[in-house]
Amino acid sequence: MQLQGIGAARGIAMGPALVLRAEAPTSSNEEQSVAPEAIPAEMERLAQGLAQAQEALTALIARSEGPAAEILTAHQIMLGDPELLAAAQQEIQSNRVPAEVAISRAGEAIAQVLAGLDDPYLRERAADVRDVARQVVRVLTKAASPLAALRRPSVIVASDLAPSETAQLDPALVLALATETGGPTSHTAILARSLGIPAVVGAANLLGQIEDGQMVAVDGSKGRVWVQPGGEELEQVEGLLRAAKLEAEELKSLRNLPAITRDGHRVELAANVGHPGDSHAAMEAGAEGVGLYRTEFLFMNRGDVPTEEEQFEAYKAVIQAMGGRPVVIRTLDIGGDKELPALGLEKEANPFLGVRALRLCLRRPDLFRTQLRALLRASAFGPTRIMYPMVSGLDELRAANTLLNEERAKLIAEGVAVGTDLQVGIMIEVPSAALISDLLAPEVDFFSIGTNDLIQYTLAADRMNDGVAHLYQPFHPAVLRLIKHVCQMAHAHGKWVGMCGEMAGDPTAAEVLVGLGLDELSMAPASLGVVKRAVCNTSLTEAKKLALRLMAGGALTPSASPPAPVG
Ligand code: PEP
Ligand code: MG
Repeated sequence: MQLQGIGAARGIAMGPALVLRAEAPTSSNEEQSVAPEAIPAEMERLAQGLAQAQEALTALIARSEGPAAEILTAHQIMLGDPELLAAAQQEIQSNRVPAEVAISRAGEAIAQVLAGLDDPYLRERAADVRDVARQVVRVLTKAASPLAALRRPSVIVASDLAPSETAQLDPALVLALATETGGPTSHTAILARSLGIPAVVGAANLLGQIEDGQMVAVDGSKGRVWVQPGGEELEQVEGLLRAAKLEAEELKSLRNLPAITRDGHRVELAANVGHPGDSHAAMEAGAEGVGLYRTEFLFMNRGDVPTEEEQFEAYKAVIQAMGGRPVVIRTLDIGGDKELPALGLEKEANPFLGVRALRLCLRRPDLFRTQLRALLRASAFGPTRIMYPMVSGLDELRAANTLLNEERAKLIAEGVAVGTDLQVGIMIEVPSAALISDLLAPEVDFFSIGTNDLIQYTLAADRMNDGVAHLYQPFHPAVLRLIKHVCQMAHAHGKWVGMCGEMAGDPTAAEVLVGLGLDELSMAPASLGVVKRAVCNTSLTEAKKLALRLMAGGALTPSASPPAPVG
């Protein structure tokens, strides 16, 4: 039997199912009533449960990296939310329920508010609040995590996997994931992609069809799940598994080779990272450098702003881990969908068009100067490329460079080492910057095209809004023409141009990007192999022809599959 869901992380796997049925750990306790004189003790039990859950998270964070560490840190902040505590205390006080019931009800109330919001990203966060409450319930009831049953390589099947559970998965024992709920931006999906585990989300009625131990196959590229495949279905799955194995071997053999087209044109392939630990995955996957280090993750999910020293250590760690390969470090890109509570920013009606990224940094020079100093100091440890996000005109670039030059002069006067292999560039993610790239090019060392934003701003289609997802088209001729123009202007001034948006990691886009003139493509480490293969399989001549055809409104070649929805 074959079920259809949403492909959330590419790859195919088959194995015995481990079905995680929803827990109802508080149901037997719902009936219990706390005697009035026992209320203070129950309040104390609640506080202890919260503290123990915090401790468990701290230990887990220390063992995690990348998105897993970020998600768990966000959970710590949710656990410390005074609103959650107050609501749970209120339940004990007014309804005289035990602490586990109180925290469960308090979490559910907050989750329901989130689940009712329009923003799909915030809606997905309801799962995080429920997860956080469940972690406290488990501590209070001394219940084991359902994943304790995972002892042999299995396909995990669940209604919705709790983010904390996904973060703890042992990739050696998890062949694939399949869930009934969740979308491509759910944490299950994000983590599965970062761990390289095939995943399908949103497959309705999964739990009704699968028993523990039954054979299940998951195709994370096309969103398919097979239960007990037999006959033709089994042949199909086995064919896919054989092809995947051959592909994995082929991609592994490319790991240390450069990306060169059949007619000798070289393209540099780099990795996007968001956390110092990610640089190991980048090196493992054969990245020639880091094309985008999103520094904002260092600032998010915390109550304060990192000091110059803390930032210096994080930037230095990535530069050193890359062992002499260039590292593009982007200055703070807060605003839009990324919040930074410590700055107490005002709510904006259109945050993607508001005081975001470089605009915010220029308004808060204290914050910006600290980051620039940390970056300049870290540049003494290897080739460093400082990159400003969201530049829309020359004045912003010049204002940023003025601050950078002032901080550099101060450091030198203080006798502090600053790197000599240092370049300064900008992201091209606003159409105005693309259109005046001839004016910007003389004042930078490089451009990196941020298609995630460039597409949304060019086509007026919010990158987070499912309702306009059909209009968010990476291959739209308007987008391709802007990319081509930027490449031409950069090259006319002897500057290199890269791309660090999601489009750079899409193997079906690789040929056209080569044809448009990109010198460097930067992507999630897991995409490096497939993109390298796509570059090696084309020629510059063919790629240029394809680019011309698409810019004129033509379609991708009939043989090329449509862009995959997942990374
Ligand atoms: C982009 O806009 O393409 C980009 C890489 O930046 P972010 O996704 O962080 O906005
Ligand atoms: Mg961007």
